[in-house]
Amino acid sequence: MTWIYLNDRFVPHEEAVVSVFDHGFLYGDGVFETLRAYRGRVLLLSEHLARLERSASRLALQLPVSLESLGKLIEASVERNHLPEAYIRVTVSRGPGEIGLDPALCKTPTLIIIAKPFRCYPDSFYTDGVGVAIVRTRRNLPEALPPEIKTLNFLNNIFAKIEATAAGAYEGVMLNHREELTEGATSNLFIVQNGRLRTPGLECGILEGITRGVVLNVAKGLALPTEEARLYVADLFGAEECFLTNTTHEVLPVTKVNGQPVGTGRPGQITGRLRASFLAGLDRLLDRL
Ligand code: PLP
Repeated sequence: MTWIYLNDRFVPHEEAVVSVFDHGFLYGDGVFETLRAYRGRVLLLSEHLARLERSASRLALQLPVSLESLGKLIEASVERNHLPEAYIRVTVSRGPGEIGLDPALCKTPTLIIIAKPFRCYPDSFYTDGVGVAIVRTRRNLPEALPPEIKTLNFLNNIFAKIEATAAGAYEGVMLNHREELTEGATSNLFIVQNGRLRTPGLECGILEGITRGVVLNVAKGLALPTEEARLYVADLFGAEECFLTNTTHEVLPVTKVNGQPVGTGRPGQITGRLRASFLAGLDRLLDRL
């Protein structure tokens, strides 16, 4: 049985239901985080908690418990479900309230922690790489719905995913309103050009991925030149290597863009070094937990 933490207690997953008046459901009014546990230990917990708090504060949403308690509840969710390898999703919505947009209609936020067995991706994702498509959907305008907020309002990303799937690609890469590359539907984008690791800067309007931050540090540790910059479609087509990052996929090689091979059409050497170093660093972090 899967135990879900709902508001103030663990309940069996069949009983983990929220009100039809929850503003998370009605309006996408809320925030979330996706985390992973390895060997029963939650990785980069404080980084995810800090981002959740940042996202919530942008919505003027008060988290229902302290960050410290939330961290303990996340760890307890992994333990309660006896999960060595876990996918964890933390959701905080505005909570139930009368119909209407005013957040004041909702007295208590809803807190949900789901911890499920982590389902590994096929080995071929890492040995052969995946394909991405540059989609027509533009990343949300930062002045409209800032991409740095990890909100429940996810239609922008879903549109990108639908388009990517229709194009036979695994992930959709979105441009912003200035024709700059931004990110995937659920991932950050990296390319290697002239041996230099490049990724769209925060000013391009992206989610500041936790994995992205770790990979940039790993690259510095390998003395690899890195650059956060404004990148364009031509940079992606001309790249020697490309990869995506997120919490669940870690470092995922990209070998095709719009059906065209990236570089040699095989996962790149620098990507491989970064992935290996990322995994080694992760092991060291886990040993310390
Ligand atoms: N960009 C978007 C839009 C995402 O949804 C995600 C994660 O799901 C990421 C980037 C990667 O973030 P992280 O590395 O923190 O998982």
